[in-house]
Amino acid sequence: MSVADNLRQVLADIPHGVRLVAVSKFHPEEAILEAYGAGQRIFGESKVQEMSRKHEALPKDIEWHFIGHLQTNKVKYIAPYVALIHGIDSFRLLAEVDKQGAKAGRTIDVLLQIHIAREETKFGFSPDECRGMLAEGAWKGLTHIRIRGLMGMASNTDDAAQVQREFESLHALFEELRGTFFAGDSAFGELSMGMSHDYPLAVRAGSTLVRVGTKIFGERDYSGTETKQLTIEN
Ligand SMILES: *Cc1c(COP(=O)(O)O)cnc(C)c1O
Repeated sequence: MSVADNLRQVLADIPHGVRLVAVSKFHPEEAILEAYGAGQRIFGESKVQEMSRKHEALPKDIEWHFIGHLQTNKVKYIAPYVALIHGIDSFRLLAEVDKQGAKAGRTIDVLLQIHIAREETKFGFSPDECRGMLAEGAWKGLTHIRIRGLMGMASNTDDAAQVQREFESLHALFEELRGTFFAGDSAFGELSMGMSHDYPLAVRAGSTLVRVGTKIFGERDYSGTETKQLTIEN
């Protein structure tokens, strides 16, 4: 199966109104162009340097979504062009995106990442930390970010009931915040959840954005990552 065939299969699976983020991290530009040729315009990346390199090289009507863990000192590199940052997990990061948005002369769309999985390694606000941050109110003074909704990752498990519960809990929090802190704010309407192995469950639980990589592009090749890491850090 080609990238274009895989893409069409995923698109056929997801209902109208749910958008697909094709997660192209670790895949070459040719693979992205193949999906682009089949009509895909939203791509997701998790490393700042890799996304910026691809943004430079590829067609300008691509929407680049940053889906990884974002370090505050790297926000400036993506602020001029990023379409949506999925992983805001602290007020400090939100404030930095605002600052860099102002410098770049734009308002940057973001999602708040919520920790819903059992694993301790995943980033994100707990639901209470998120409510607390919103209640504190300082975010309302940030004029160069726009909070568009929430993002989360379910536990990496074969227990479908568990994954479903986690997606449903994220959906419930999304509805709660939409009815309280974001009442009357039509921009708050995105729920980013679902990956290759669990997007059908996520869609059933109310996802509006699914982030699918492996099912479209195949397995990622992480060899050589360590040397790449060194170049990024230095
Ligand atoms: C890599 C990644 C994905 C895509 O995962 P696949 O299993 O390849 O579909 C989705 N979301 C996030 C946050 C990721 O880091």
